[in-house]
Amino acid sequence: MSSSASGVPVLPDTIAAVATAVAPGQGGIAVIRLSGPMAQRVVRTITVFPGSQEWLSHRVLYGHVVAADGHERLDEVLVLVMLAPRSFTAEDVVEIHCHGGVIAVQRVMARVLEQPGVRRALPGEFSQRAVLNGRLDLTRAEAITDLVSARSQRAAQLAMAGLDGGIQRRVVALRERLLDQLSELEARVDFEDDLPPLDGRALLEELQEVRATLLELVADGARGAALRTGLRVALVGRPNVGKSSLLNRLSRRERAIVADLPGTTRDLLESEIVLEGVPITLLDTAGIRATTDEVEQLGIARSHDALASADLVLLLFDLAAGWTVEDQALYEQIPGAVPRLLVGNKLDLTNSAAEGAPSSPALDVRLSAQTGDGEPALVQALLAQCGSLSEQPLLIALNQRQSDLAARAAEALQRSEEVAAQGLPWDFWTIDLRQAIQSLGEITGEELTEAVLDRIFSRFCIGK
Ligand code: GDP
Repeated sequence: MSSSASGVPVLPDTIAAVATAVAPGQGGIAVIRLSGPMAQRVVRTITVFPGSQEWLSHRVLYGHVVAADGHERLDEVLVLVMLAPRSFTAEDVVEIHCHGGVIAVQRVMARVLEQPGVRRALPGEFSQRAVLNGRLDLTRAEAITDLVSARSQRAAQLAMAGLDGGIQRRVVALRERLLDQLSELEARVDFEDDLPPLDGRALLEELQEVRATLLELVADGARGAALRTGLRVALVGRPNVGKSSLLNRLSRRERAIVADLPGTTRDLLESEIVLEGVPITLLDTAGIRATTDEVEQLGIARSHDALASADLVLLLFDLAAGWTVEDQALYEQIPGAVPRLLVGNKLDLTNSAAEGAPSSPALDVRLSAQTGDGEPALVQALLAQCGSLSEQPLLIALNQRQSDLAARAAEALQRSEEVAAQGLPWDFWTIDLRQAIQSLGEITGEELTEAVLDRIFSRFCIGK
């Protein structure tokens, strides 16, 4: 709790938000969550409970939210009371479980916000309070948003590892190792003569070991990002080579998660599929054709943008028809920096493996979109691109913010190597070490200013 200028403690605001996903016509119930000292009073003012139900912590009450006239019933609700400190935010929390649907929820929400002393919560404000009140550590709070926004099984698993405290434990342990070294150094700075001499080499080794672990975490973070966001794959090939057939086949692999996203242009259709738990966005660049027509050219330009923005280009051609001049032209249009997979389709129509592509560049996969022959090889090739097939399974993955800080800590430790090489006195070592400790503390939330916290939580969703 903070204090005002006069020294009188200032109670935090009471905040309220719809904590469930808001979508028209979806969800039987919605939860409105209130947190803060006024939470109980607000909900008691706007509800009536039949019979003799006791208002007790961690009990569920049944009743109605009523309008300001005290009679009109706005909704039939369940109310869940969780008094401080046994709540998500460690403040008094009251949840109103009302009926879902945009209008019903908004009527109850409006009634809540009419009450004095309560305001709409900012994005992430519940989680921020939980962190500030020591109820939740920062990496776990971040893992909650990752879990909520996970688009694939693998992303959800990674988020759960963060929620279980995997990131927190790893980073705290590394930070403690650095703190141990710092205290040794500081003792030498102050009382060099009274203490046994410090083994500079051992100290340096320890710092470099921590640095190597940090670099591993940064690399795993990059792999995690690929798993979380998946791959953008541009599917190209001349007409009738089987692009739609392939797309249909891949889409069937994991039911119910297939979504046709409206393309940005008529020439570009995006579909999202999930392969072995990894989301893959397929950009169907139907617009790419060798043409001189000006209007067509426009479509082509857009498709080229898609090619350049893709993580991978999958060029499909017809094995039965062989590698044609048009295939070669398409191949040459793929920007040099973009990785590519060359896939020969209609394997079922070819007799010998050698047939089909005498002059094509190296062929990666042969398959038949019709029979499914060769499909597993294609899936493996795609997944290898996002690093999900690496021998080392990914246990935890830092998010971008955490990765940046880990990289900064590693840089500071690298500098300590230079300081050592120059044979500078101990207090020079402590500068970089402190910097590294500070960066790791910002990952776990141990060393954070309120402004930084505000920035982090503003990216959360409302009601979280
Ligand atoms: P797109 O224009 O590249 O999207 O090609 P389509 O997917 O529409 O396929 C063109 C034609 O080739 C259709 O008649 C498909 O049934 C056929 N086709 C696609 N893949 C295969 C395949 O692997 N084997 C055979 N035999 N026919 C295929």
